Amino acid sequence: MRADGPQDAPVPFQEFVLKVHSRCNLACDYCYVYEMADQSWARRPRVMSTAVVRRTGERIAEHLRGHGLTTASVVLHGGEPLLAGAHRLEQLVTELRRLAGPRITLSFVVQTNGTLLDRRMLELFRRHDVRVGVSLDGDRAATDRHRRRPDGGSSHPATVRALELLTGPRYRPLFAGLLATVDLATNPVRAYESLLEFAPPTVDFLLPHGTWSTPPPGRPADPARTPYADWLIAVFERWYAAPRRETGVRMLEEILVLLLGGASRIESVGLSPAAYVVVETDGEIELVDTLKAAYPGAAATGLTVHADRFDAALAHPAVRAGQRGAARLPTACRVCPAQRVCGGGLYPHRFRAGRGFDNPSVYCPDLYRLIDHLARRVAGAAAPGAARRPARPGGPRATPDRPAVGFPIGRTGAAVGTAETILGAPDRANRAAVRPTAGTGEAR
Ligand code: SF4
Repeated sequence: MRADGPQDAPVPFQEFVLKVHSRCNLACDYCYVYEMADQSWARRPRVMSTAVVRRTGERIAEHLRGHGLTTASVVLHGGEPLLAGAHRLEQLVTELRRLAGPRITLSFVVQTNGTLLDRRMLELFRRHDVRVGVSLDGDRAATDRHRRRPDGGSSHPATVRALELLTGPRYRPLFAGLLATVDLATNPVRAYESLLEFAPPTVDFLLPHGTWSTPPPGRPADPARTPYADWLIAVFERWYAAPRRETGVRMLEEILVLLLGGASRIESVGLSPAAYVVVETDGEIELVDTLKAAYPGAAATGLTVHADRFDAALAHPAVRAGQRGAARLPTACRVCPAQRVCGGGLYPHRFRAGRGFDNPSVYCPDLYRLIDHLARRVAGAAAPGAARRPARPGGPRATPDRPAVGFPIGRTGAAVGTAETILGAPDRANRAAVRPTAGTGEAR
């Protein structure tokens, strides 16, 4: 492994994902915590204890002060974090802010399935300025396909009730957005429009987790087929063609920003250094927890907040690898025209048993097709129904007749203007310093 040069200085963590409760009151069939390779949830305490909260708060403050940082975000996560109860959540937020002290600003967001989100919880979040992200896949039919209760009952009515409360005038400022998992069985435009009914500030469509060893549902072996790209392109066309900006669609916006020369704020696309870390209910420090989809223990670091500073996690080889920009790309991606925008996709999606993570994403054909479409569309080179260019999985190469993805951007000023308009004129300078986050989206 090469020595770190100055350009490789570790990027301190600025987002801390706290697993405040390790269980869930739903039984979503695609959940990476309970339904995939890693089953470590079963040995963890149900709820993060007061002692772990305090130690985590001390470690966060120590890390931020040590790196001269004055802001960070904390994601309250699970399982279902609201199972921890209002009292414990209030204690946690209060304690972490107390330990951070007056010179550090911690912003909080909770990512919930919404079924326990009642007026009492919302009053608590309003009092403590905790923003709320809610997971919902679309209308009742879409939600019922995957997001069911353990007894098979629908979770949709309870989540909708919570969203009606959250989106009322008193609590709407807390609304962070909706998180939806792509389901090929759902009509993409219908899913998008049913989410729009809640006027979310942003919608985050996630690809269901999978690896080369356990492919995502409906991801065919034939690299010429791109069902997930086709699904997301349908959403893109509905979103992009709208006469006014109805909401943000995080993954699509991030790809557009990358095509315009900016940096991504999410870990699933782009090459920005990852700068977040996970703390489990028992205080174990873990890597991005979607790694649980790859193999048992994939997210483990062997570190805990009891014994280790977050700087020790920063020095972990997997964290260092995730901060190395283009050097972290899988070998096959290094000749791909889409590499700067795609970034090889989400790290867990590269896994293949016996070969580790040095592979393109299992979604490679979809990512290439999606990026290519957006690049040509915003440059005016593609009409909504234009003939598609074939996906070139496993390391597409730039050739004279196949320029790097994003090539048209910047040659057609009007087209760039269109993209910037829909994005709210992204500031490239600001974007250059951004770090991808787990936010309300990546980790669930
Ligand atoms: S080869 Fe595939 S996974 Fe790798 S950067 Fe290109 S499109 Fe992305």
